Amino acid sequence: MGLPPVDRSTLWPYEDGEPGEFYYQRYGHPTGAAAEKALGELDGGTALLFSSGTGASTSVVLGLLGPGDKIAVAEGCYFGTPTMFGVFERWGLEYVEFDQTGPPPDGVQLVWLEAPSNPFLTMPDFEAAAAHPAPVLVDATAATPVNLRPLEHGADLVLHSATKYLGGHSDVLLGAVVCRDPATAERLREFRTRTGIVAAPDPAYLLLRGLKTLDLRVQRQTETATEIVRRLEGHPKVERVRYPGFGGLLSFDVDGDVREVEKSTRLIRNATSLGGVESTMESRHRWEGDRVPENLLRLSVGLEDVDALWTDLERALPG
Ligand code: PLP
Repeated sequence: MGLPPVDRSTLWPYEDGEPGEFYYQRYGHPTGAAAEKALGELDGGTALLFSSGTGASTSVVLGLLGPGDKIAVAEGCYFGTPTMFGVFERWGLEYVEFDQTGPPPDGVQLVWLEAPSNPFLTMPDFEAAAAHPAPVLVDATAATPVNLRPLEHGADLVLHSATKYLGGHSDVLLGAVVCRDPATAERLREFRTRTGIVAAPDPAYLLLRGLKTLDLRVQRQTETATEIVRRLEGHPKVERVRYPGFGGLLSFDVDGDVREVEKSTRLIRNATSLGGVESTMESRHRWEGDRVPENLLRLSVGLEDVDALWTDLERALPG
């Protein structure tokens, strides 16, 4: 019952003159190990925590690929992912974007899917990706293991920005990779120890706490988002709604000035990020430019009452 206490030690005494399970925090710590065990069980693989979702992505790229390798990445995925790949182009990494609803291109060493993509909410063709000779990674941040266990769909690696739904309360920056193959997990663990892209005990504790309510939160967010989608689809000033049929994340295009709309809500916070208990909404054009429609709003549905959310949205939308 309850959660294990946070052990913030950076070192643990040797046992009978030799390192025991834990000896120096960068190699591993009890709170992190407990959180990795819990997440690994949820996703059905070996989980490793990193300092952020982006730290987890960086570790996969630098830890498992080399100069000259090429990644096929889902177009319309979290824009920070290809942006990060671009940072590593000068170290010889290449990437190409492709439509993840079809097969990945030939000649790549890693297939990078996002389920569902943020903010376009497309789902990958898992079968086509699994038939590709390259390993397949699925960023399942927006799905969570409640809605999707990618390792059961032929993926080799699952990536989470635990900053979002897994942590769930917008108070922890954390990332995770869940590996099908324990040997791959060992390679990543070694990379993590050597580069120091590690998660500290307090974020790991907050993940453990978040996981206790993950199921309930995601179920409720799905129910509320489904109803909001239904109402948005009937709104005369909403041109298009994107929703994969589960989860708390959706986006919609408005016939009007979305910068005015996002500033006009009171209950829904005009803020970035997603997956928290409080709803957030923003124009993604401000960050992603012409990669997304100028009139697209991304809404992350929290745990507020559905009618209160709708009243807030309806008042903010153009009349
Ligand atoms: N993957 C997805 C789908 C995301 O939405 C984000 C952040 O928005 C990330 C990865 C990066 O995560 P972090 O902000 O924890 O580095």
